[in-house]
Amino acid sequence: MKLKILVTAGDGIGPEVTNESVAILREVAALGGHTFTFSERRIGGVAIVADGTPLPADTIAAALDSDAVLLGAVGGNEFNSLPPDKRPEAGLLQIRSALGGFANLRPAFAFKELAVNSPLRPEVIDGADILFVRELLGGLYFGQPREWNRETKEAWNTMRYTRDEVVRVARVAFQLSRKRRKKLTSVDKANVLEVSQLWRATVNEVAAEFPDVAVEHQYVDAMSMHLMNRPRDFDVVLTENLFGDILTDESSVITGSLGMLPSATLGGKVNLYEPVHGSAPDIAGKGLANPLGAILSGALILRHSAGLEAEAAIIETAVRKVLEQGFRTADLARANPQGFPVLSTKDMGAKVRETVKQLLAASR
Ligand code: NAD
Repeated sequence: MKLKILVTAGDGIGPEVTNESVAILREVAALGGHTFTFSERRIGGVAIVADGTPLPADTIAAALDSDAVLLGAVGGNEFNSLPPDKRPEAGLLQIRSALGGFANLRPAFAFKELAVNSPLRPEVIDGADILFVRELLGGLYFGQPREWNRETKEAWNTMRYTRDEVVRVARVAFQLSRKRRKKLTSVDKANVLEVSQLWRATVNEVAAEFPDVAVEHQYVDAMSMHLMNRPRDFDVVLTENLFGDILTDESSVITGSLGMLPSATLGGKVNLYEPVHGSAPDIAGKGLANPLGAILSGALILRHSAGLEAEAAIIETAVRKVLEQGFRTADLARANPQGFPVLSTKDMGAKVRETVKQLLAASR
């Protein structure tokens, strides 16, 4: 298997966490006889400083010439006074739209060992395993017209979807449901919004192509409550851009730390993989960052861009085993009555790498 991976580590803790993810992917390649080639380009604040723009043309070209892009995070306090289109975060939006991925996959799962970090009771979250599929290129964030008219003192945005935009993301969600528990929850606000009525009608149309998948519809306000009361009842959750943005952040409390969560954006020219967290300037450069979200994003590269499902599952198992053995990064050890060993970013990466090596050797 040959795979060209572009690493855009970005700012803050981005380089620290992507280093650990890349080291594990290299190990998987070496042990499995695969050829993974890695190149690096700038994005975000580091690119503003070096190239005068958050997303240099050279980074876009390299991204389009690769099989997968692994992104760290962008952003830094020193750029906060820049206008929105000049800030590091603009680089993120630009690379997402250059690559064209419309289906943003964000898993939210509970680790038994980390239950103490969640504000939800262990018996509520135990066994929860949700895969959000959020539409990423449409809806309120992109709809025209949009304006803040300072003279008339009014502002407006437009939530707009075409049937085709809903069909393509719904198909991704149904296909993923087939590989999981064959249950899909579509979230909308069809009791109030026409755009949600189109969404619901279209999801029902696509559902006819997947008769083996059970479908239910939930209103977004009710769903925000169900996710906290009974997260175990959901498997694949399909929703539009704004609702997905909010519900996925809400659901990160199931896992207990932002540092654990990976994401993948599929459906465009090249898939984009990134941990959910930001650049965490408060802990950057101190070896405190949790690399597991970036490492699990590496597993998603193997699953969705390389077809290496067994190897992806081995990385996920390795993360679970390391947590079972009691190893933690600082963010996972805030409540640490058992006195778990607290590892640096590098040491946590090394522990997972070692476990991946053992599991790969045992799987032969
Ligand atoms: P953040 O995710 O960077 O940090 C929020 C809190 O979580 C901080 O206390 C941080 O220390 C902690 N945290 C985050 N990731 C962690 C990890 N891997 N290990 C341990 N602790 C971790 O969000 P923020 O503070 O709101 O934003 C900081 C910067 O990141 C801003 O410039 C923001 O715009 C940017 N940002 C970027 C992305 C991205 O690149 N995808 C996403 C969100 C925020």
